Amino acid sequence: MPILVMKFGGTSVATPDRIRRAAKRVGREVAAGYEVIVIVSAMAGETNKLVGLVDDVAPLYDAREYDAVVSSGENVTAGLMALTLQEMEVPARSWQGWQVPLRTTSAHGAARIEEIPTGNIAAKFAEGMKVAVVAGFQGVSPEGRITTLGRGGSDTTAVAFAAAFGAERCDIYTDVDGVYTTDPRITDKARKLEKIAFEEMLELASLGAKVLQTRSVELAMRYKVRLRVLSSFEDNDENAGTLVCAEEDIMESNVVAGVAYSRDEAKMTLVSVADRPGIAAAIFTPLSEAGVNVDMIVQNISEDGRTDMTFSCPVDQVARAEKAMVEAKAKGEINFHDLVADTDVSKVSVVGIGMRSHAGVAAQMFRALRDEGINIRVITTSEIKISVLIDRKYMELAVQALHDSFGLERAA
Ligand code: ADP
Ligand code: ASP
Ligand code: MG
Repeated sequence: MPILVMKFGGTSVATPDRIRRAAKRVGREVAAGYEVIVIVSAMAGETNKLVGLVDDVAPLYDAREYDAVVSSGENVTAGLMALTLQEMEVPARSWQGWQVPLRTTSAHGAARIEEIPTGNIAAKFAEGMKVAVVAGFQGVSPEGRITTLGRGGSDTTAVAFAAAFGAERCDIYTDVDGVYTTDPRITDKARKLEKIAFEEMLELASLGAKVLQTRSVELAMRYKVRLRVLSSFEDNDENAGTLVCAEEDIMESNVVAGVAYSRDEAKMTLVSVADRPGIAAAIFTPLSEAGVNVDMIVQNISEDGRTDMTFSCPVDQVARAEKAMVEAKAKGEINFHDLVADTDVSKVSVVGIGMRSHAGVAAQMFRALRDEGINIRVITTSEIKISVLIDRKYMELAVQALHDSFGLERAA
């Protein structure tokens, strides 16, 4: 029998009614002849609540216990979904990550999937079970501890199951009806894309568009999973939602495919560090050891052998970054006059494969921001994206201005 993976995000399982609605969709696919693997997220808001509890008892927590706590939201929805399906007389049962077992690395809080043995679930399908409901976001480490895959990780669970089971499709049901040119919450001019290339989706996701977790797109690209994003609140036909697919399957596209943002960024500057060989290594090694995800880096021109080094990281990692820098200074590994943290910045990015062959995208982006009086603090570019760091109060305005400037409300 063909296998389908259906993933339901937090808002799609937020209440028993919504779980019933999702279960009905699953029931329809079973009736159409599929064996279904359902991946569920925690009910909306639950994971944030659990993270809050951990922060409350232990701000600098043991990541293994963090995972034990924050993975629990998905256990509840997996059981509830299986029960709901059983009520509808669809043979179903739930699986927690360790029962599959979904094996991951031991990088707690951001573990990577290593293996999904299919035997346990396949055996149940062979016995007549129609739906395996799997708790998303969680796995088990080689040490036998519960791990989580990073925020938004249920998307990755879904794609990984689709790859492991050779599913016909991986459908991601969420609270929007597809991938848009930008977050539809920021501008009502955002336009739903019928298709988006893996590379573009990968960039948008990694630059903040949380509709899909970055790693899920990576896996879909690598294992050629047919990945679709669609609404759990609307009736969908065969062509509903957005298909994430290979570049060559898209006929026409705009130079810029979309605008992404990451709201809670911080910019840190080490003022007056010695400009000598090895200084970048001396700064960024302890940061990486402290688990700080450094993003943009700028080194100023030096004067009298001293320079300023600026980097950005997520705002909730500032305390860790400061601690690492102060310790490195105390050990004599680096020296700086001051450490300045600006925690009121956001990153806004434009993404598009078309940039490979079009000059002038950066200039157009900078003009659009200038016209709104928005100062750019840091810039980075790669082949298919340009990112800027700006004051957070201008974030929405910047996204809207760029969306307008690149004409994204209209299809190519
Ligand atoms: P789920 O709980 O179903 O996993 P998420 O909240 O993780 O849902 O992701 C869906 C949200 O992603 C949407 O509500 C939307 O606000 C946001 N989003 C950000 N960028 C985009 C985009 N380019 N297209 C669609 N949604 C986006
Ligand atoms: N519940 C987890 C989170 O909120 C995983 C997910 O929803 O994908 O991050
Ligand atoms: Mg999500």
